[in-house]
Amino acid sequence: MRKLPNITIYDEKDKILHKKSSDVIFPLSKEDKQNIKDMLLYLEMSQIPEEQEYYNLRAGMGLAYVQIGILKRIFVIVEELEDHTFRNYVVINPKIISESEEMIYVGEGEGCLSVNREVEGIVPRHARITVKAFDENGEPYTIRVREDIAVAFQHEMDHLDGILFTDKIDPKNPYKDADKMREL
Ligand code: ZN
Repeated sequence: MRKLPNITIYDEKDKILHKKSSDVIFPLSKEDKQNIKDMLLYLEMSQIPEEQEYYNLRAGMGLAYVQIGILKRIFVIVEELEDHTFRNYVVINPKIISESEEMIYVGEGEGCLSVNREVEGIVPRHARITVKAFDENGEPYTIRVREDIAVAFQHEMDHLDGILFTDKIDPKNPYKDADKMREL
């Protein structure tokens, strides 16, 4: 069994999760590069059943830097592909440059490694977005993402502004506008 990276994930009760993160200045420090590797490995391990069980992890697809207690505009996403390999996304200083009119939502509700409770309700997200960002080496790139990866990007980008998915659900009307969107 691989060793679980030593990262602490902050809970929504912590004030830091409600703060806005700042743009990153390149080059990244060694520590930042290590943190990014650790977050990617943590997410990958959380999606592998044996490791998930051994370490008692909740499966997660994305983590924003603020969730490990650092207010920098960095997030990572780990996507399991059909052949059971993983695709890593490292997204730094992201900006949305276009978004679809079509809206979608995760039918079973979104999850977050910082929200350790059941939350009822759905969050409207764009079905497709195009994002400009930088990788860990400071190289700019543009990426178009769709469906669940588009949801993950929007969820993580909200973290960079101190917004949790729970902030976007009206507890009095948790399924508001569901009929106007497509369910994932
Ligand atoms: Zn989250």
